[in-house]
Amino acid sequence: METVRRLDRARAQVQFAAFARAAMLPAILFLLHALLLSTMGDRAGQASFVFLIGLPLLAGCACIRLVRRESWEGWLPLAAAMLCWAGGMAATMVGVLMLDVESEVSLSMLLYVLYGVPLIFALASPPEEAWYVRCVDAVLAGALGYLFFVYVFTLSTMSGTQDANAAALRRMFDVENLYIATFALIRLAACRDTAARLFLRVLTAYAVVYLLVAAYINHVQAEADFGLWPDLVIDLPFLLLLARTVGVRRELVPPVSRRLALIVRAGSPLMLPATLLTVSAFLLSHDARLAVAGCIVATLGYGLRSVLVQLRSYDEQDRLAELSHADALTGLANRRLFDEVLRREAARAQRHGGALALMMVDIDHFKLLNDHYGHPVGDARLREVAAALSACARRGTDLAARYGGEEFAMILPDTDAHRAAAMAEQIREAVENLALPSPAPGGVVTVSIGVSHTQSLQADVQKLIDSADRALYDAKRGGRNRIALERLEPLVAG
Ligand code: GH3
Ligand code: MG
Ligand code: MG
Repeated sequence: METVRRLDRARAQVQFAAFARAAMLPAILFLLHALLLSTMGDRAGQASFVFLIGLPLLAGCACIRLVRRESWEGWLPLAAAMLCWAGGMAATMVGVLMLDVESEVSLSMLLYVLYGVPLIFALASPPEEAWYVRCVDAVLAGALGYLFFVYVFTLSTMSGTQDANAAALRRMFDVENLYIATFALIRLAACRDTAARLFLRVLTAYAVVYLLVAAYINHVQAEADFGLWPDLVIDLPFLLLLARTVGVRRELVPPVSRRLALIVRAGSPLMLPATLLTVSAFLLSHDARLAVAGCIVATLGYGLRSVLVQLRSYDEQDRLAELSHADALTGLANRRLFDEVLRREAARAQRHGGALALMMVDIDHFKLLNDHYGHPVGDARLREVAAALSACARRGTDLAARYGGEEFAMILPDTDAHRAAAMAEQIREAVENLALPSPAPGGVVTVSIGVSHTQSLQADVQKLIDSADRALYDAKRGGRNRIALERLEPLVAG
């Protein structure tokens, strides 16, 4: 008990040390910014820009470090977003401190809006999707960026009150930030991969704080000049990102409902088109033609993406169906397919009274071979015998299968007893002619084959198998490397 308590205390100390290490730099930067704001008087605005540009750049660098340590998925778009934001703030600084020109301000607006495009792409396009699906996502993200661009420049060059245009832009920021935070929360709630979870944990915390801070700055402090204490509020999301990216570690994924993960995976293709449609709706009263084009791109992009994902899923279904019917070692049909086909063919024979033959093929003295050469050579022999068997099953309706261990089976629909016996003899000869070395009496690998046959309106699967087994036993008892045939007499009702 005491040991457990000591372990808990040690773990808490380690966690606190890690937290303190991660929070140290952001805390120092925050205090430094506060100190400069309170001491620099008229020049506080200039000093403040150093932090407002430097912090997102620093956070971007921390993300780049994680690109190298973890993966570029997520971290690179996040670094690109930070770069955009820092660029936007640099353009604001040029506008405020040097030029006082409108176009500089609209460039900064554009960069603030574009900042969200890589983030929405990272959230809407999961890495597990095929590259061509992600190309469609990239095109949709590109279209989104273009609509943002047109929207910002339309508003900034439009006649009308500055206030109305600024309010429209603020609405756009709110919606964009809300989408990013919501998408991040949804993806985090359904994430079952440790690497993706690491990124989503960081992004979600950042996106939620950014949403709140942006709303506060845009709506409550919209008129405040730079160089005042609201600048410290702007620092918060970037400081948080910095703290979260320093020393961040993968952690165990808590249990996530499989259903929720599937719903989010299936629903995430809606994220990009939904954002695109929203921006198109914003554009409607300014540039109707472009807004309609945005809606068309969103719809077609979503449709194309669905077709591509569906194609991939059909392909995977086919591959899985094939795998579930194939024997892993020999590539022949496995026992599951054998059972299915035999049941089907027996039912068909019952309906039409057609002929049906079954062969059981067993390798002679295989245990000896295994003991003498080892299992890997035994496996190779199994594959060679399987290939010979498959070469003899020439008709499309014949099915060669691995029945189990060193025993194979062949279903021969519409085959009379004479032809079934001839095929069995052909297989026996083909295996013997392979002349595969064996420690068995003949010196080569041979097979014994039991054949059963029916031409019955009451063809019974179990009777057919039992009969082929009995015939195989006869062939073994008769000296091996031979075939034996047992014919089921038609069972006439009554
Ligand atoms: P018989 O002539 O009477 O058929 O004798 P046998 O030795 O072939 O028959 P037995 O049933 O005694 O031995 C079958 C051997 O097949 C035993 C088992 O280790 C081996 N075996 C079963 N499956 C595999 C496999 O996938 N790979 C290998 N290498 N050996 C296998
Ligand atoms: Mg055997
Ligand atoms: Mg056997």
